[in-house]
Parts: sequence; C-alpha cells; structure tokens
Amino acid sequence: MTEHYQLRCRECSRAWGNAPLASCEDCFSPLEVVYELDVVRRSFTPERIAQRPANIWRYAELLPVAPEDRSALPVGFTPLVESSRLGARLGSHSLYVKNDAVCFPTLSFKDRVVAVALAQARAFGFEVVACSSTGNLANAVAAQAVIHGLNAWIFVPADLEAAKVLGTTVYGARLVPIAGNYDHVNRLCAQIADRHRWGFVNVNLRPYYAEGSKTVGFEIAEQLGWRLPDNVVVPMAGGSLITKIHKAFAELAALGVVEPRPVKFFGAQASGCSPISTAVKQNQERIQPQKPVTIARSLAIGNPADGYYALRMIRSSGGWAEDASDPEIVAGIRTLAETEGIFTETAGGVTVATAQELFRQGRLRPDETTVLCITGNGLKTTDALAGEFAASPAIEPRLAAFEAYLGEVTVPVQGD
Ligand SMILES: *Cc1c(COP(=O)(O)O)cnc(C)c1O
Ligand SMILES: [Zn+2]
Repeated sequence: MTEHYQLRCRECSRAWGNAPLASCEDCFSPLEVVYELDVVRRSFTPERIAQRPANIWRYAELLPVAPEDRSALPVGFTPLVESSRLGARLGSHSLYVKNDAVCFPTLSFKDRVVAVALAQARAFGFEVVACSSTGNLANAVAAQAVIHGLNAWIFVPADLEAAKVLGTTVYGARLVPIAGNYDHVNRLCAQIADRHRWGFVNVNLRPYYAEGSKTVGFEIAEQLGWRLPDNVVVPMAGGSLITKIHKAFAELAALGVVEPRPVKFFGAQASGCSPISTAVKQNQERIQPQKPVTIARSLAIGNPADGYYALRMIRSSGGWAEDASDPEIVAGIRTLAETEGIFTETAGGVTVATAQELFRQGRLRPDETTVLCITGNGLKTTDALAGEFAASPAIEPRLAAFEAYLGEVTVPVQGD
C-alpha cells in the first residue's frame, strides 16, 4: 500500500486499507480514516501551508485523496469573521463566525465533504455517484459531479425546499423524491448501494466524506493564528461535522502544529428533531430516534448515524447541547443578519439561537473564545421567513408620492 492513510474500525481497530466501505466486516462498527502522522509531519507545517492556495487542499496531507484525483475547484477556506456586534447581543467579548454560507461552489459546508468523497469515487472507478440528502448535500454532489464527469443520482424527502430541489436539477443530476422522511430515504439508499455498484457519498464512501468536514476545524485553527478556540458551537444532523472538527483539532495537536488545549464542543439541534441534544441533556447512554417536525430541514435526521459518537465526544469535552424551536430559529436567522450582515439558512438560525441560550445558561462564558459554525446560506430557505417581512405597496415614480410616503413612515429616518 502506498497511501499514508487507510480505513480503520473505530471499535476493534482492524485496518481495512482503502475501499468503498463504511463499516467493519468483523464487528459492524463504523470505519474512519487514520494517517501515518510521521509522513504527514514532513511537509505539514504552518509556513508551507501559508504558501498554498486558499482552499481545502492546502491541508492535503490530512485528507485521504491522491493529488491526481482532486478537482481544481477552490472549495472551502471561507471567512472566519470576528463578530463583535453579535457578541454584544449574545454576551461574548470574543466571538467568531465561521461563515460557510459562502462556501464554493454551492453555499454550504457540504461542498467540503463532497470534494473529498467524489475524488475517492473517481479513484475507486465509480461512474455513478449518489446520496441521500436533506438538501445541501444534494446541491454539492450535483454540482461537483459535473466537474468530475460523473453521473449523479440524488435521493431526497419529497417535501424539500424548492430552492434546494432547483439547486440540484439545474446541474443535470437525476433527482428522486421519496415519499418519506430522511431516515426512510437513507434506508432505501443503503439497500440500493448493496444492489448497484454506485458510489454513495454518505453510505459506502462515508468515511472519506466525513474527512472533508475536518477542513472546517483546520481553517478555524489556522485563521486564529494556529490556535484552538475555547468553544465551538456546531449544528448537528447526522452528528458527523461536530466529531470531525474534534478530530481535526486532535490531529493538529498531535502534529504539534497547535498547542494542545481542551476545547469544549457544543451541539445545536432543532427542538423538532433533537435526538442528540436530548440524549446529552437527559444524560442518556443511547440515542432515541425521533420523527422530525421542524423548519430546519437540513438538520432533520431523526436517527443520526454518528449520534452516539457525537454524544460521547460532547460529554468528554466538557461541552453541552441545546435545541431551538422554530420561532427561535427564525429569530436566530434575523439576529445574525442584523448584527453581522450574514444571511444564513435555518441550520444557522439553530446555531445562533442555541448559542444565545448557552450564553444565557452560563455554559458559554463571555471571556472565552467561541466560534459559531454557520454552515449554509439563507437564500436556500427563504420559505422559513415567509410572513416575517410585510411587503409595502408600490408608490408612483414621482417625488411628491415619495414625500407623502416618507410622511407615513413610522420608523425614524436618518440623514434628512
Ligand atoms: C448537513 C448539514 C449539517 C450537519 O451535518 P452532520 O455532519 O450530518 O451533522 C449542518 N448544517 C447544514 C447546513 C447541513 O447541510
Ligand atoms: Zn471492527
């Protein structure tokens, strides 16, 4: 084997090389990618990384992809925004927003996971790639399949937001709406993956997909000057992103690229689909699956694949989890827009609302450095804001009409 990375069972530690395989054939536990850190260490230094292009491949040594399989797309390296106005609102003196609402090419952090998964799909010789999706993954697979010359089959719950449907089919992908929720869709995809030789990015390619999430953590550390924050707040669907940001920080610390320090991980869910946060709050050992009822469709996974690992990691980090109701999610979207000029989707509303609650509870403290992971773009979920902003009737294109209009405006008008 020439690669310096391979799959290993999370429970029995058996190594499986590199293959489209999600679970251990001995003990059925999930697989994850491990690296020979001595090989990584030779070239993975802050000085060298600083000279590389501003995209996820600047961390290539810690991604399971051969150079010839990468696409040239500049995925990732999104802004880490110092957010003092939002901080003032929530009660923090050191708050940052990791803004994946502007991730290239499809405006969510899922572009990162797909960049890694499709590169491996190509390496494994798949001609068809597929996924079960709550929306953002669908957009990312459809767009990047075009670049790799792969055929894309996308399976989604039939009630998905219109923008996420259109943002899939526009790329020429085959979209299969399923009359059911995400958990039904995902179960069907596992069966299809057994029957057809397709690369399912979140089924048989899942360990590779998950590694793409680490780049959020690498970027946060680099953008803080190769330093780890005290706290991160991360929205959870399947629970993969939050565990992989943790893995990223652990790998950087093991390499000596950052000073090791305890980072507390805080998970955010919607109250209408909160299997992981409920388990954290009620001190349960197991995740109880739920039937999702929430406007945060991108997080609506009732039976989270990595829920158990997310739960364990949150607990051992000294963090916590909370959830937000639909009205709180909408308020969270508005708060971020009004304070930082960032328009996020419902998942971002979940993150902001949850962070607000965690500051209120004193679990997040004002003087610690806290990073909020904003993972998707508000233009994809405008339905959630329908009715929030009343449209005013049109006026005639005459100055007199405007002056009359001005007389009726009740909010204070500045500059006159
Ligand atoms: C998929 C998704 C998440 C969470 O992803 P998991 O890794 O499954 O927990 C968070 N935010 C958005 C916008 C997503 O699309
Ligand atoms: Zn095993």
